[in-house]
Amino acid sequence: MGMHRIVKHREPQADTFTRPLSESVLPKWRIPEEMSDPRAAYEIVRDELALDGNASQNLATFCTTWSDTETRKLMDDAMSKNLVDKDEYPQTAAIESRCVHILGDLWHAPADADAMGCSTTGSSEAAMLAGLAMKWRWREAREKAGKPTDRPNLVCGPVQICWEKFARYFDVELRQVPLRADATGLEPDQLSDHVDENTIGVVAILGVTFTCAYEPVAQIAAALDAVEDKTGLDIPIHVDAASGGFVAPFLRPDLEWDFRVRRVASINSSGHKYGMAPLGVGWVVWRSQSLLPKGLVFHVDYLGGNVPTFALTFSRPGSQVIAQYFTLLRLGRHGYTEVQQACADTAQWLGRHIAQAGPFDMLYDGHGALPAVSYRLKDGYDRFSLYDLTDQLRMRGWQVPTYELPPDRENTVIQRILIRHGTSRDTAALLMDDIHRSIEQLTRPQPQHRGFHH
Ligand SMILES: *Cc1c(COP(=O)(O)O)cnc(C)c1O
Repeated sequence: MGMHRIVKHREPQADTFTRPLSESVLPKWRIPEEMSDPRAAYEIVRDELALDGNASQNLATFCTTWSDTETRKLMDDAMSKNLVDKDEYPQTAAIESRCVHILGDLWHAPADADAMGCSTTGSSEAAMLAGLAMKWRWREAREKAGKPTDRPNLVCGPVQICWEKFARYFDVELRQVPLRADATGLEPDQLSDHVDENTIGVVAILGVTFTCAYEPVAQIAAALDAVEDKTGLDIPIHVDAASGGFVAPFLRPDLEWDFRVRRVASINSSGHKYGMAPLGVGWVVWRSQSLLPKGLVFHVDYLGGNVPTFALTFSRPGSQVIAQYFTLLRLGRHGYTEVQQACADTAQWLGRHIAQAGPFDMLYDGHGALPAVSYRLKDGYDRFSLYDLTDQLRMRGWQVPTYELPPDRENTVIQRILIRHGTSRDTAALLMDDIHRSIEQLTRPQPQHRGFHH
């Protein structure tokens, strides 16, 4: 009998893991010389990505981590559509425009005004556009009055980093009003000390990143009305409703935070947060066309017509916008209400159990604002820190962030858990079991001697 020689198969039928690509440690910082079998390359990239956190256990993010099959299919079908090519893809452009109208309506844009808006890559780009519009309007008014325009400022509470970016990128002073003890956001009576003739606007947040609370937009507007009565300064409000813009209209329809408040000039929201669209879409809407300075809008010829565009980008995927439209169409008002209510119920359930666990004081127990909870350790509790708890939970794959509150409350360390579409009650119960187990582990008496006894 002869010996069997192993012949390596290089042909298409070869097993994926015997292909040359699978049998080498890959160069990470140079493009490879040769082509590879797509299946082998796919396995390698997919396996590497498995080292990332599991998105469904990521309770730190506001962003969509679950999508249905139809969304995936529509996005796949639309993968090649460029949102900027309004001429080539007029229906995609029409769908974007419908979404803007749907949101304007949801946020009570006055019927007699000509609300307008656009999609963006997220709330950050939306914040840049809304911030620029405020800055340009302020500058036009100042120039008309013959006053200097070199020191614009923007007043806000504990904002998300996108407003710090806006301020730095576009030369605006950011006046962040310090967070008061026991407050969860900007309070109306703090404003008059911070606004002046150089204030381009006030940002109110519907769903503060740190605490999940809604800032009281109507009361903030009333405080600015009082400022106007006293000083004549007419300061607009922009509402950063990155998360709340898709929650409040369904769970708290009577809460007046939107265009029902006369002073609200513009609103942004992240479609890819509680809007339930996949990552990569946000929205900004102005109460009326007159609030968007003409100089910021570029005109693109389109089907013999003329389409105005306002964006920081040029080419962008159309599929996220299409997925947003599908989700609005598919769920409707009732569907959004049911999903957000289920999330809120689960957040409140979790809030009750965390409050009962012993070591925690609740900052926000899931009632009234976003479907989320936040809490800190009881005063004087020192058997473990929240950072220890984050590490302990991470061993089971949960991502529950711990962080300091913004100025002036940097000494307060808190933990925050977000509940979104796709986080079931059962998942929350599994997390709760792991929180109990982690507390037990962290408070167990440490053995005196480590290692083996001889
Ligand atoms: C998430 C968030 C942003 C940034 O939104 P992106 O869509 O991630 O760009 C801005 N403001 C608030 C209040 C947020 O929660």
